[in-house]
Amino acid sequence: RPIAPLVPAAPLGLANALSDEEALRAAPVQLRARLSANENPFGPSEQAKQAITESLTSCYQYPMQARDLIQKIADYEGLKPENIMLDAGSSPMLLAAAVHFGQRGAIITGDPSYADLPRKAEKFKAPIVAVPLTADYKLDLDAMEKKLDSRTALVYICNPNNPTGTVLDTAKLKAFAARVSKKTPVFVDEAYIDYLPDPRDSSLLEAVKQGQNVLVARTFSKLYGFAGLRVGYLVAQPEMIKTLSQYAVGPMSISAPAIRAAVVSYQDQAFTQDVLKKTLASKQFLYDVLKREGYEYIPSSANFVMFPLKMDGKRFVEEMGKRGVSIRNWEFNNQHWCRVSIGRMDEMQAFAEAFTQVS
Ligand code: PMP
Repeated sequence: RPIAPLVPAAPLGLANALSDEEALRAAPVQLRARLSANENPFGPSEQAKQAITESLTSCYQYPMQARDLIQKIADYEGLKPENIMLDAGSSPMLLAAAVHFGQRGAIITGDPSYADLPRKAEKFKAPIVAVPLTADYKLDLDAMEKKLDSRTALVYICNPNNPTGTVLDTAKLKAFAARVSKKTPVFVDEAYIDYLPDPRDSSLLEAVKQGQNVLVARTFSKLYGFAGLRVGYLVAQPEMIKTLSQYAVGPMSISAPAIRAAVVSYQDQAFTQDVLKKTLASKQFLYDVLKREGYEYIPSSANFVMFPLKMDGKRFVEEMGKRGVSIRNWEFNNQHWCRVSIGRMDEMQAFAEAFTQVS
């Protein structure tokens, strides 16, 4: 059953929700299913864990393997090491961009979308231009482009979009980036790109290689299961990398075990294919539960699914929390929404049990 189209509401600032941490804290009992932070419980790989164990004896040394990881990424993607900045997850990249661009002008973003960068930029007095999604819950590139003016400092695009899980048409996004980046830098957050069937074709790394003023943030937190290990990177023009590096600690903020684990995990196809297979199976189970209970959902290209609730969002989070299931709520388009991360099958079953009682 197709989901009801989004009726664009007047933009009222960024969509409101509990943060990942608040949602986890709102679950007061021993958790049976931790489905509020888009983590990947199928990772990290066994090889990554082994690399961590082996690196423990030399943990008194400062981490020196950042170059290896940068080179590996550069070789695979056809980039130069100068195009790449490494840090503890992609959050430091979002912060660096927020500090730099937030002092220079307005940030255009979708709404709802990942709010980390705009929220941080707001602290530097940046006006936030939050553009509602299209009727099919995608970022509205045409409307975003219309908002560009002389005070725009940055356009932030999250693709696939968190929290809706929707993905943009690649040709359309590439054309948008090519046009817009002539006037304003375009920041593409590709935290969930690895969940697409064709991440290399869908990525905007190509635009960076063509010399466009495009910044691409990537993370090991999702498909590689490194949320607690903290490794991420930014790809952009060398000058931009130099500029943004001023606002970040850089590779020295990543622990030696995490860097080693990232080196052995990167493009480990046997592992990533296995994660994708398990994620798809759990996602299909969730879709079936939602359908059975008479709920609609937004078909998702990432490791989470968003659906409209039939009750108050905060109460839903609390009731699910009492049953050991943490999820997140959103309020937008005059509706209460839930975002469920895709977990192990036992976690999806715990979700289903609690959901049947609460909904
Ligand atoms: N971007 C998006 C779209 C995210 O959802 C997240 C984490 N939820 C991040 C960036 C930051 O993740 P990390 O710092 O772990 O790379």
